[in-house]
Amino acid sequence: MSEQDFEVVVLGMSPGGEQVAGRLAEAGLAVAGVESNLVGGECPYYGCIPSKMMIRAANALAEAGRVKLLAGSATTSPDWGPVARRVREATHDWDDAPAAGRFTAKGGHLFRGVGKIVSPGVVRVGDDTLTASRGIVIATGTEPTVPPIPGLAGTPFWTNREAVKATAVPRSLIVLGGGSIGVEFAQVFARFGAKVTVVEALGRLLPFDEPEASALLADVFGSEGIGVRAGAAATGVSHDGAAFRVVLADGEALSAPSLLVATGRHADLATIGAGAAGIDETGRFIGVDERMRAAPGVWALGDIVGHGAFTHMSVYHAEIVIADILGEPHHAAEYHAVPRVAFTDPEIGSVGLTEAQARERGLDTAVGMTRIAESSRGWIHDGGNAGFIKLIADADAGILVGATSAGPAGGEVLSMLTLAVHARLPVQRLREMIYAFPTFHRAVQAALAGLP
Ligand SMILES: Cc1cc2nc3c(=O)[nH]c(=O)nc-3n(C[C@H](O)[C@H](O)[C@H](O)COP(=O)(O)OP(=O)(O)OC[C@H]3O[C@@H](n4cnc5c(N)ncnc54)[C@H](O)[C@@H]3O)c2cc1C
Repeated sequence: MSEQDFEVVVLGMSPGGEQVAGRLAEAGLAVAGVESNLVGGECPYYGCIPSKMMIRAANALAEAGRVKLLAGSATTSPDWGPVARRVREATHDWDDAPAAGRFTAKGGHLFRGVGKIVSPGVVRVGDDTLTASRGIVIATGTEPTVPPIPGLAGTPFWTNREAVKATAVPRSLIVLGGGSIGVEFAQVFARFGAKVTVVEALGRLLPFDEPEASALLADVFGSEGIGVRAGAAATGVSHDGAAFRVVLADGEALSAPSLLVATGRHADLATIGAGAAGIDETGRFIGVDERMRAAPGVWALGDIVGHGAFTHMSVYHAEIVIADILGEPHHAAEYHAVPRVAFTDPEIGSVGLTEAQARERGLDTAVGMTRIAESSRGWIHDGGNAGFIKLIADADAGILVGATSAGPAGGEVLSMLTLAVHARLPVQRLREMIYAFPTFHRAVQAALAGLP
């Protein structure tokens, strides 16, 4: 049992938590970082990095498949070995010693274990009691949600954490959940030869994106032989030692040796002791102000504050927290231009409001849309050119409030749309811009033509 005094205790060394802890330690503050698993959080070990490596490999196979359209013939022999190897290299075989070393080299103190806030300014980790004279930063992120489907608990299903560790491609795979995590893994494993079926309880894949994005992905998945059961809730799961059986509400039964659960993420505020810090722990998320303050002497960042579960959000928040703790000037957090990308092929990038959200808010909503295949670059590109640009404008204000960029490099084309929404650039100025020919982003100009 020991009591140790710090200025700041960072609970959860997530991407943002690690950034706050490291920078404050470099600034000379006495900082404790508390981590129950791996320093760096979900993104480098179980999320963004390994999944995007898998996607890169799967896309190389898909591109090879397009050679026959464009350049003769190419044969491929998909091999998961290099993928599994690269993921293990990137994650140091799920060893955070390099990341932990970077933090301690900056002067930070790392405590391993599950931390809990026990009273204002006090965190307990195992036998250690850490006091924080300036404050506590909560960066504990989210966990995969396992839905209460009868029979599911106790079966050897995968979440993203097992999927990124796969050493072989399953013969067939059922994916529960058609959000971005589910659809990314579905396409990867299908492109490596698995027979994949995605089950989404809501009416469409990517249910919170534009319906055109859902339709596009459903088409692409259909053409790649990926089954989609949208509007189909799973009502029962069983595992007989070799295969899963998933029964859907309409009575259909799916069977496969592997099952991936990708039905969302959640945080349990009570387990981190949010209540003891003066935070309402009954909600799904921690409420924060524009400086990420959750209660006196408590900041929260990342997935747990409910403004989008993205690494770029976590590290955006981190900069605000760092400045606030150091008493340096910084802009307030704002969320009108949050970008997000589903790294499927085609990539689906979006920012700001969807058309439905703009209409719900009562905005004078106008829509401009164009198909990538109809652009010069899309026509040149040919195979794999499915996609569209959809712009959502507040016609009254003459600015874009949202956009979706789906297609080859859709996530990259998104950058100019994020800038436009973020800076509230007048639509008229966007029309006056020169767009390089023949780029994918030039399709934005065609979509603008559809706006009043
Ligand atoms: C498969 C997948 C793919 C993704 N792809 C992308 C992508 O392409 N782009 C993108 O921007 N985002 C992506 N994300 C989301 C991204 O990983 C998260 O938004 C990001 O990690 C930021 O999360 P966070 O800062 O809230 O905390 P997390 O990364 O969730 O980290 C929280 C940390 O806190 C620790 N912790 C929790 N409770 C305690 C406790 N009581 N005591 C001590 N430690 C604790 C955890 O062990 C963990 O290390 C992906 C996620 C998944 C699952």
